[in-house]
Formats: sequence, C-alpha cells, structure tokens
Amino acid sequence: MLEYSFPLFRPPSEANNIIIQVTLGCSYNNCSFCSMYKTKSYQVRNLEDIQKDIESLALSYPDATKVFLADGDALSLKNEQLLTILKQLQKLFVKLRRVSLYASAQNILNKSKKELEALVENKLNLIYYGVETGSDTVLKKITKGVSQSEIINSLNLAHEAGMKISATVILGIGGDKYSNLHIKESAKVINSTKVNYLSTLQLGLEEDTKEIFYKHFNDFNMLDDYQLLHEQKNFLKLLNPSNKIIFRSNHASNALHLAGILPKNKNRLIQELEQALLLGKTAFVSNTFRGF
Ligand code: SF4
Repeated sequence: MLEYSFPLFRPPSEANNIIIQVTLGCSYNNCSFCSMYKTKSYQVRNLEDIQKDIESLALSYPDATKVFLADGDALSLKNEQLLTILKQLQKLFVKLRRVSLYASAQNILNKSKKELEALVENKLNLIYYGVETGSDTVLKKITKGVSQSEIINSLNLAHEAGMKISATVILGIGGDKYSNLHIKESAKVINSTKVNYLSTLQLGLEEDTKEIFYKHFNDFNMLDDYQLLHEQKNFLKLLNPSNKIIFRSNHASNALHLAGILPKNKNRLIQELEQALLLGKTAFVSNTFRGF
C-alpha cells in the first residue's frame, strides 16, 4: 500500500490528479519566506519504490490522464531517472496526457535544451514555477538564490523546449520600501517570457519563518490589503505579454479573486480592482475564507 511522506504539497489545479513523490523536500530549501519543507531533508527516492507506487496507483486508477510529480522541485532529478519514470507512467497509464511538477530556475538551467525536450516528448509538459519577484534587490533579501536574468533565461529555455509554464508572483514580498521596484521588475519578467498561466498570491509569513525572514530583510514592512490591491493594479497595468496568459488570483490568501485572460481582459481586471478599492473592505474576501 502506497504511503506518502508528509507534509505533501501540490498546486490547487492538481487536486484531482495522481500524485507520485519522486523526491522528498526541496533541493534548495533556503528561501527565507518559505516554510513548506523545513521539516524535511531533501532526498531522491529509491527508483524501485517509485516504480512500486506507480504500479499500485495504475491498478487503482488505470484511466488517469494527469500525474503530478512531488515534492518541492522534482525537476532536480537527473534526466535519466526522470525519463525512466515518465516511460513507466506512459506504459501503465495508457490515457496519460500530462505530467507536471514544481521547477526552479536552478533545476531548469542545470539541464540542456535537448534534455528538456526529451522530457516534453515523454509528456512532462507543464511546470509550476515560483517567480515570486523579478527584482534582484528583493530576490537577494528573500534569499531566493537566483537573479532576474536567471529567471528570465530559465523560463525562456523551458518555453523553447515546449513546456507550458504556470508562474506565481507574490504580492507584498518587497514590503513597502521596495513595492514599486518589485512590481516593475516582476512585470518585466512576465513581459520578457512566455508563461501560459499566471497567478498572484499575497505574502503570508508562518511563525517559524519570521525570524529568518526579518534577519535577511531588516527594512521590511508588511503591506495591508489595500496596499496589496494597489500593487496588483499596478502590476496588471504594466503587463504587456506577447502571448495569451490565463490569469488568476484565487489563492486562499487573496483579498480579491480575479480571473481573466491577458492581455484581452486587462482593462476589465483593472476596473474590478479599482471598484474594490473604492468599496473598501466590504468588497474583499472575508478573513473567515482566507488562508490565515
Ligand atoms: S525553492 Fe520553492 S519550495 Fe524550495 S525553499 Fe524556495 S519557495 Fe520553498
């Protein structure tokens, strides 16, 4: 019987899909705002154990079409191992259409375009990618371990290899001092790449991350919902993507839920934000339904 190693995270859109843990934890595990895998050490799971999990899940769900490979950055696996896993998935899930995973700039840049293409040919065709911010100043302060140019290069490499990209930007991660810079540089990242899905969520700091977060970001002041929605409005104003992007802000953290297609619905989304800012708290999602 398959047993997951907890905590186990997956994107909301993977809620109804098969989840297979191929790595445990995050190979970087050093972003100061993130508490997801602080209780886990990174490890690559034994291939035989992964293969047993796939066999067991294929017996129970033979018609599954989508598989998510966990944990934090399964793209950290060597291509050879990933290809072995992908080939077994295709053999046992005969209706398989999509395999996805969390990926970082480091994971992508550690692979060649040819290696990434081989993964796409074997149905690994969607990556979930936390941009968080495009600002080099803020990236340093949140100890993300990558620069804006590495983010842009990695996203472009993944796109050129044929991967679809679902990216997230965190509102409020620059605090009040770097808010404008955060928004301007994050929009630059999105406008310089070709992400397919984009979502914004609002920064929330777990108790166990606060000390380390403020240690590296000692001039940080948290924004309130009004300021965060202003950030979001300014972000949308600056977005001019050359491709179609499905935009969402429907994470449990968001004060206002928005959905649309960019650039087509940009003005409507900005109007919804302006309306909510005029109405004030009554237009915001009640704290009862928020993720804090
Ligand atoms: S790379 Fe992702 S999972 Fe790993 S520490 Fe950073 S935010 Fe958390």
